[in-house]
Parts: sequence; structure tokens; C-alpha cells
Amino acid sequence: MRTDQPEVRVRWPTDRIPVCLLVDDPVPCRNPMWYEFPDQGHVEEIPNGFAESFADLCEQYGVAGKFSVIPCPRAEGRVDEGLPGVPDSELREFLCIVRERIAPRMDVSPELLTHNRAVDPDTLEPLEEREDAWAARQDERTLTRYISTALAILRSAGLEPNGVTSPWALGAEIEDVYARAISAALWEVCGVRVGWYFLHADGASPVVPPRVVLLNERERRGLVSLIPGFGRDPFWRTQQGEEPQLDDLISSDGSRGRLADLFHAGSPVALCTHWQSLFSNGTGTGLAALEGLCARIEHNWSDRFRWTPARELAQYAVATAAVRLESEGDVIRISSPFECPRLTLELPSRPGARLHLDGTPLEVTGGALEEGCWRRDGDRAIACFGLEGSVELSWRT
Ligand SMILES: [Zn+2]
Repeated sequence: MRTDQPEVRVRWPTDRIPVCLLVDDPVPCRNPMWYEFPDQGHVEEIPNGFAESFADLCEQYGVAGKFSVIPCPRAEGRVDEGLPGVPDSELREFLCIVRERIAPRMDVSPELLTHNRAVDPDTLEPLEEREDAWAARQDERTLTRYISTALAILRSAGLEPNGVTSPWALGAEIEDVYARAISAALWEVCGVRVGWYFLHADGASPVVPPRVVLLNERERRGLVSLIPGFGRDPFWRTQQGEEPQLDDLISSDGSRGRLADLFHAGSPVALCTHWQSLFSNGTGTGLAALEGLCARIEHNWSDRFRWTPARELAQYAVATAAVRLESEGDVIRISSPFECPRLTLELPSRPGARLHLDGTPLEVTGGALEEGCWRRDGDRAIACFGLEGSVELSWRT
């Protein structure tokens, strides 16, 4: 934010902490671990009933975030045309569950093309190297081509991706090139101006906000790195029959745990897990633990958090990074080249005066903040409104 008003601060949308679940590795009807390690005794099939149970949980708790779909699992077939061994009717059913029940809250991304060996992006013939090793030696043009193919396959399968997930640490050595390639591919294939990617985690910093990596105000385009604040997948070892330790995330009274610490520090809370960790080789222990986590979050944070889709977190990060504030007397002019729903600002309060937006009084609220409302908080005021172009916030008696 550029401002001549150091007293004004950006708060999270509606003054609630964004909470975002990142689900890695889903493939239609198969256990990603079986694809990756066919000889390790993992259950092969994940029935569509499991995807329905996950969708039930998302709908019940309003869970939002991102959901990967690997376009060409193990470089064998493609999700828009058919996968060897998976009946077409089951493949179509999986895609339908994702499209209609998961994608409304969980933004879809490829997790590059195969999550296995790299392929020639034109023929999809497997190459010798794993995708991460291959990608580390590519330039922006070939990476854009590769990512574009992944996005185009998902679109052809009826999904609308708006971000990209790295398998392993793909892209870490060439992150600036990788980021430009993601942004170009999202724009060219999906018409997405503000996108996101998931590559890093940070289990140590007290506050872990999304990071704006590319910002082009003239073309109104941007790219954001979404960073989970917990360094590992808490449900991973359910695949070996272990019970997850929810207290490491948030204790039942909400006072302890890494996610509780982030929440109390005012940080967004993003958490990564895997499709195979929720499936837990058929026991569903991971999914049950996720439900326990959702219940603890809801119980302890009630109306002070908001499940937030990946694209919304990215859009808010980019729009607020580009916001300009100019003040003149009792009027603050706020503008951004990026649309910003639920822009929430904290500013010094004027006793006896009411906040107006473009000359119309904002609604005063003592409770939940929504677009078009403001409330007093001691000697501060917190206002929430949608920003498109520019608006004027003013105090009037
Ligand atoms: Zn993965």
C-alpha cells in the first residue's frame, strides 16, 4: 500500500483471519501413493465415495483453499481423455464431483503434468528425468509451454484452474523464471490475471502472509506465492496407521499449537495436506482428523476467521499491495488498478462523526463486518467495502 496516511492499515477481509486448506496430489479414482510407489503395498483404488465424503466435509464446514488435479498421472493417459485401468464412467464421475462440489470453494490447480517423469509437452511422451530435475534446466518459453499443457488438459476436462502447484520443490532453483512462466500460462490458457502458486512452506516465522511475486499494474496482472505456516503434512503418517496429533495444530481449547500461534499473531493460516493422507490407505483416519481440526477451528475462532479460497487470498494480496491512499482534510481517496472485494481498512476514528463511502453513509455495526459496514474499535475505526477503481472515504457529522 502506498499512502500519505501512516495511520491507516490494511486488515484481512471483513477483519477475519483467512484460513486456507491446500490439498496436494489428487488423481481420479486412484491412490497417488500407488501411482508413485506401486510396490509399497498401498491400496490402489480411491473410490469416488471418498471424494463425496471430502466434498461433504467441505460443504458442512465451508472449507476453502485449493485442490490439485494431476493432468497426466504417472505419464499414463490424461484426465480429459482416459486413464488406463480407470473406467470412463468413474473418471467422469470424479471430475463431476470436483467441478460441482469441491471447486466452488477449493480452487483447482494442476500439480504439474505427471507428478512423476517429465513428458514432452507436445506429444506427452515420457522423458527420462523426473519433472523437477527436468524443469530446473528449462527456460521461460519451455516452462510456459509445459504449464500451459497442464492447464489446457484440466480445462478440457471441464475444470477451471487458476493456480499451479509444484510437485516436490519443482521450480525452487529457478523461481523467477518459473513464476513468469506460471503467470504467462495462466493468462494465455485460462485468462487469469491474478494467479497463485504453491511451492514453499514456512513452519517457523511468527507471521506467514502470502507473498506477491509479480505485480504489473499497467496490465493488471499479478502472481502470489501461497505459503502454509505449518512445515509438514500433519496427516501424512495416517497412511501407516498413526493417529495425527491435532494438538500440534490447535489444542482443543484453542490456546496452543502452531495454527493457534499464527492466528493469535494475526497471520493468515494456510495448511497443506495430501489426498493420500486423508484417504489413509482406506481407513479415512486423515479425513476424520481433518474434520476434528475443522471443528476445533470453528469452536475456538467462531466469527474471527474465514475459510478463504486460494484465488481470493491472491487477489487480496495483489490488490492491497497496489492500493494508493491520498488524504485531503476529512476525505481519503482510495484507488487500486485491481478490483478488491471486501477491502478492510483500519483508521483513526473521529468522535461524533460517521464514515461515508462516496458520500453515502456506511452502515454501523457492532457485530460481524461485511461489505458496506464499519465499526468503532476504541479510538480506531474498521471499515469494509468493495473497491473498483477508486472511492472516497470521508468523515461527516
Ligand atoms: Zn505432490
